[in-house]
Amino acid sequence: MNRKKLKYKLKAKKLYPLVFLLLQKNLDFDESTIKETKDKETKDYPHIRCPKCNWQPKKESLWFCSNCDAPEYFYEACGTAWNTFDTGGKCPGCKHQWRWTSCLSCSQWSLHNDWYLKKTK
Ligand SMILES: [Zn+2]
Ligand SMILES: [Zn+2]
Repeated sequence: MNRKKLKYKLKAKKLYPLVFLLLQKNLDFDESTIKETKDKETKDYPHIRCPKCNWQPKKESLWFCSNCDAPEYFYEACGTAWNTFDTGGKCPGCKHQWRWTSCLSCSQWSLHNDWYLKKTK
């Protein structure tokens, strides 16, 4: 450690306990808030999440049956909006079985089956 750093540390020591307390308070607050929203969000489909970003769909999340290049290559879309996890990826309008599901959060495509958490037991 060089002298400059040491000097800075001594100076900062006086302020440290107060700052630390404030930080702790903020941390407590943030953690409980995050936990609460997380619980609410994960209630609908606890075993489904985006393989890319871990986002979990809600009951009211909607996917659209729309023409799509990679990776599905589907060009007869009917425009229906529905929750794709209620039907296992099957469009209720045109009965197209979507093999791929795009994430409403990170908008990356993953195989529909990969969204389901594998049972470990
Ligand atoms: Zn459709
Ligand atoms: Zn995602």
